[in-house]
Amino acid sequence: MHGASTTESGAPLHPHESGLGWEKMKCSFCGKEIKKGTGLMFVKKEGTTFNFCSGKCEKNLLKLKRNPRNTKWASEYHKIKKGKKQ
Ligand SMILES: [Zn+2]
Repeated sequence: MHGASTTESGAPLHPHESGLGWEKMKCSFCGKEIKKGTGLMFVKKEGTTFNFCSGKCEKNLLKLKRNPRNTKWASEYHKIKKGKKQ
C-alpha cells in the first residue's frame, strides 16, 4: 500500500529506525569498535566530538589526558587495527 509512510520535508528522521544513523564508531581513546547503542559521546566546547567505548576511556582521555599511544592497554587496539609496522 503506497503512502503508508510519507516523509514531509523537514520532518525529523529517525536514524535508529533506518539503522544508518549510528555507523560503526570507534573509541576515540582505545580505537575499539563501539557497538550501536553502547558507548559514550562527549562534545567539547569547540565542537570536537569524542566517542568512548567505556567510562574508563573517557576518564583516561579527558580527565587524565593520557595519550593512547603511551597507554599500554589502549595502544593494543591500535596495533591490531593497523596490522603493520611503521
Ligand atoms: Zn575505548
